[in-house]
Amino acid sequence: QPAAGAQGELTGILMIRAYHRAHGDLERTDVLVPDSAHGTNPATASMAGFRTVNVPSASDGGVDVDRFRAALGPRTAAVMIPNPSTLGLFEARIGELLEAVHDAGALAYMDGANLNAIMGRFKPGEAGFDVMHFNVHKTFSTPHGGGGPGAGPVGVGERLEPYPPPPPGRPEGGGRLRLERPREPPPPLWRRRRVVRATAGLPLSYTAIR
Ligand SMILES: *Cc1c(COP(=O)(O)O)cnc(C)c1O
Repeated sequence: QPAAGAQGELTGILMIRAYHRAHGDLERTDVLVPDSAHGTNPATASMAGFRTVNVPSASDGGVDVDRFRAALGPRTAAVMIPNPSTLGLFEARIGELLEAVHDAGALAYMDGANLNAIMGRFKPGEAGFDVMHFNVHKTFSTPHGGGGPGAGPVGVGERLEPYPPPPPGRPEGGGRLRLERPREPPPPLWRRRRVVRATAGLPLSYTAIR
């Protein structure tokens, strides 16, 4: 249960790592971030064992699609992009960029800290993002940076649905729990709950973002 945006990032990027490992794609060591990215993005990538590659922004402050294209390759595991960016700008070329990301076999992480401005106007899953976190303490309650309690629920698209961090225990009947076994498939709950609305206050860590 990620307790802040930064913890949601780590959860999401570890799911991306699990995805590449499950596909035997062990050469993907790089995470690309725009130079406008929030400091937690490269920190998260490093904590998950990736190398951060900084991509300079375009002159209008948005992502530079050509520079991203040039940086993408067989070593790219993911891109991490706040949208709107930390400069407060909506990334208008995001669809085009994420198509190139998927063509390169990489996945796309959206830092959703600035969701407040685009709530109900933009669908991250349709734009091509595979996973994102919600800073519900920023979007729905205290102002951005206002402090107070935090929460960082994570939403995933289809590609990452099979890779939720496993719950530590599985119900065994009779009110008993047992530890999850290695490689045990996700519990049926994950499969059934395909589209769940992210609602402030709900103790959900995983939601589909389509
Ligand atoms: C605040 C913020 C984070 C980190 O969120 P915390 O809840 O403080 O851990 C990540 N990215 C961006 C763009 C932010 O503004």
